[in-house]
Amino acid sequence: MNTGSIKNKKVTNYTYYKLSLINNSLGGGVVVGRKKIKEFVIKILCAKCSTPLYIYKKEGPGSLVKCYVEGILKDYTNGNLECPKCGQQFARLAKYHNRPAHKIIQGKVIVKGHCGK
Ligand SMILES: [Zn+2]
Repeated sequence: MNTGSIKNKKVTNYTYYKLSLINNSLGGGVVVGRKKIKEFVIKILCAKCSTPLYIYKKEGPGSLVKCYVEGILKDYTNGNLECPKCGQQFARLAKYHNRPAHKIIQGKVIVKGHCGK
């Protein structure tokens, strides 16, 4: 009976030791949470005539759905959401999270550059 209890104690101590190791590694300053949003600078062209429309700083990966006005680094258009060369409308005015944006009409633009897909 005695040997049994000692054995049990050993196991318990060992388990505790292992747990404390895990706890130490968890408390080792690993930052979890707030991820930094990646930014990608892309070029937006007219799908019809390949005229440059915007140089745009895109937030996060994925396909282009909208352009926040503040993210447009260079605007080649006349500000009327139409291609300056062929006159095709490529976006509509919209607001996302209270930020003015241009909602891209799918199929009207070509995106060049890394989108982080
Ligand atoms: Zn065009």
